[in-house]
Parts: sequence; structure tokens; C-alpha cells
Amino acid sequence: MSGKVTVLLGQVVQFRDDPFAGPPETAARHDRRGAVAVADGKILAHGPAETVLAAHPDARRIDHGDGVILPGFVDAHAHYPQTAMIASWGKRLIDWLNTYTFPEEMKFGDPAYAAEIAARYLDLLLANGTTTVASFCTIHPESVEALFQAAEARGMCVAAGKTSMDRNAPEGLRDTAQSAYDDSKALLTRWHGRGRAAYVITPRFSPTSSADQLAALGALWAEHPDCLMQTHLSEQHEEIAWVRELFPEARDYLDTYESHGLLGPGGLYGHAIHLEPREIDRLRAVDASLIHCPTSNTFIGSGLFATIDHCRAGQRVGLATDTGGGSSFSMLRTMAAAYEVGQLRGTALHPAQLLWLATEGSARALRMDDRLGTLAPGSNADLVVLDLAATPAIAQRQAQANDIWEAVFPTIMMGDDRSVAATYVQGRRVNASE
Ligand SMILES: [Zn+2]
Repeated sequence: MSGKVTVLLGQVVQFRDDPFAGPPETAARHDRRGAVAVADGKILAHGPAETVLAAHPDARRIDHGDGVILPGFVDAHAHYPQTAMIASWGKRLIDWLNTYTFPEEMKFGDPAYAAEIAARYLDLLLANGTTTVASFCTIHPESVEALFQAAEARGMCVAAGKTSMDRNAPEGLRDTAQSAYDDSKALLTRWHGRGRAAYVITPRFSPTSSADQLAALGALWAEHPDCLMQTHLSEQHEEIAWVRELFPEARDYLDTYESHGLLGPGGLYGHAIHLEPREIDRLRAVDASLIHCPTSNTFIGSGLFATIDHCRAGQRVGLATDTGGGSSFSMLRTMAAAYEVGQLRGTALHPAQLLWLATEGSARALRMDDRLGTLAPGSNADLVVLDLAATPAIAQRQAQANDIWEAVFPTIMMGDDRSVAATYVQGRRVNASE
């Protein structure tokens, strides 16, 4: 091997199986004293510390003590331009967009402002242990440039695209069917596959795109099927009724995408709460990804996603903050909200299921699990190290734990960026000095 080897020491949790497919408590391997060997930005090996150290006796060692080394968190749906207006009080979805979101998104035609927020946003993600995100941008190509440049500077794998809207949005935030196609294609050509950048074709949602615009973006996706496509689906009842008015010929909400070439593998459908049986069947048949955004769904009062049903059925499901409709940048807080939503639906998600959704599950939803979201040798060394005793309240509960799942659950429920002891991107520590 060429590069210098570094061995990170700590507790190591690595999933062997999908924890929704069998007993969750045995789905992962846990090494109480474990290690992850890293070189050239990639994972070489993981396992018991003594085995890994014996294979790499001359490696540099970084000892994280009782810290838990995991794949970096993967946030499968966010809006980085909403960073500065996160936690805006008191509206339903459509009012909230008009009152808070659209005025803020107007500012992203200014490259300097876009660059400032992109840098602030990605630094907040890294402080929270999130190493990959799929983000909407604004209609401005400048907003996409800013995010990909900021990601490139940090070595991060970021999936993003120009949000397209040609109706039901204010003056200054509308493009056209043709300009959405042209601008998206130019950005895709420039960025997709450059370093770790992944371009995502991004119609915001059916209410803000004409049939012509949806068809234009569907045509672009057909030309570039290796790209992801992200949008929103069936978040609130008012929204679904509005879609029915706007597309009277459509069988259902999903059909507004399906009939314009915007349903397929690589499609990421944010929220997907109030689905019809036909929609559930079609999404499963094409192996699309549903993205669960629990803090957003409770914050905006949208409803309760059927996590356990979709996961047990084998559907790809990602977990996401939906910043700033979501109320946190933290995937720990997001896992806690997913647990609470599960409880309100009558199912207690196991800590293994929550951690899997925030890492490998989201990577699988983004079809990136061959290169991130796991500790498999050859994967990028994008890692988070959790301190399971970051606050006095968490520490005193964790001290009573009998196994790794009981030890990690208080951090899931009560943790935040204070629980992130270290974040690594391609093997380089990014959120603290070594
Ligand atoms: Zn969203």
C-alpha cells in the first residue's frame, strides 16, 4: 500500500445485516476495544484493536478511548439555503414557504452570500458528524456552484442540484422549462463526477413546476440516468389537494412525476407520508428511495411516516434533517425524532435501526453504499466518533447500560453536536485539532 496508515482506536460498530430484515440487536458487530485502519483517505480494515494493530504495527495511532467510531452520518434530504432561517415559527407548509423560505432563497443569486451560507452550512454538518448530504439549492446556478465549491474544499461527498420552479413562486424565484433544463444540464456537465460531487436533478415539487418543466427535467434524467433525482411527495394533506387541482388528469400525486419521466431508481422522494396504495406499490416496483424527515414532519405538523412498514418491505429509506423545515442540523436529534414518530405509530425503532438509517440506510437510499456509509474496506474514511458521555445527564444514564445499544440510546435521544468527539473526511480530522 502506498500511503501512511493511521489506526483509530475506540469502540467500533459495524453492521453485518440490515437491522430491519432480522433481529436488530445482532445485526452489527461491536468491538469494545476496536480499531479502524485508514490510508489514502480510504478504510483498510476494521476489527478488534489487537488484530488491526498487529497487521499495522508501524501505523500512527489516534486513541478515542471509549468513543464509538461509526461511518459519518448521511443526511439524505436538506435545503442548505434555509440554514439562516431554520426554526422559523408557526406556519403550515405553503404559508411557511411564502413567509420565510422564498424571501431567504431570493438572496442566493448573489455568489458571495451563497458562498457564505454554503461554508457555514457544511461546517455545521461536520460539527454534527454529518459527512455527506443530498441538498436542494435555489433556482440560481450560483447557489449550486457555491455548495459544490465548499464541499470540494472540505473533501466532502455532496449531492446537490438546482431547484427548479416555474410557477406558484414569487417573481425572482421562477425559471422556465427551458432554462431549468439548460441550467441543470450545464451544472450537471460541469460538476457530476468531478471529485466527489454528484449532481441531482431537482424539481422542487409538482405545485411549483408546470407539466412542461417536469417533462423537461424528466428528459434530462433520461439522458443522464446515472444522476439522482430529488423532489418532495405527499407531505401535507393541503398540498396533496392542491396537486389534485393543478393536475386533474393525474391518478395521484406520484403520477405527476411518473407521467413526466420523474419516477425511477435513483429517485429520492422526500416525506412520502400520505401515500395511496398505488403509489406505495409503484415506488417499490421501481426501487425508488423514500426519505424520512421526522423533525420536519413534527415541526410543520405534516404527519407520521411509516418507517417500519417501508423498511420491512425492503424499500430504500433514507433519514434526513430537511433543514430548515426540519428543526435541527443534528442526525442524532433526527434519529430521536424518528424514534418518537415510530412510537406514535405504535413501533419502537431499535437503536441499531436508527443508527443504520442515519448511515448505511441513507447511503443506500442515495445509492452510495459502495463507497460511504459503512466501514467496509475500500470505502471512503468518512467517520464520526461519538462520545457517549458528553453531558452529565447522558453520562449518568449511560453508566447504567448493559450493552452497546443501551449505551448509545441516551446519546441518540439527548445528544447533539456536543456528542461528536471527532469527524473525519477521507481520513482527515476536520472538526478539531489533533
Ligand atoms: Zn425538503
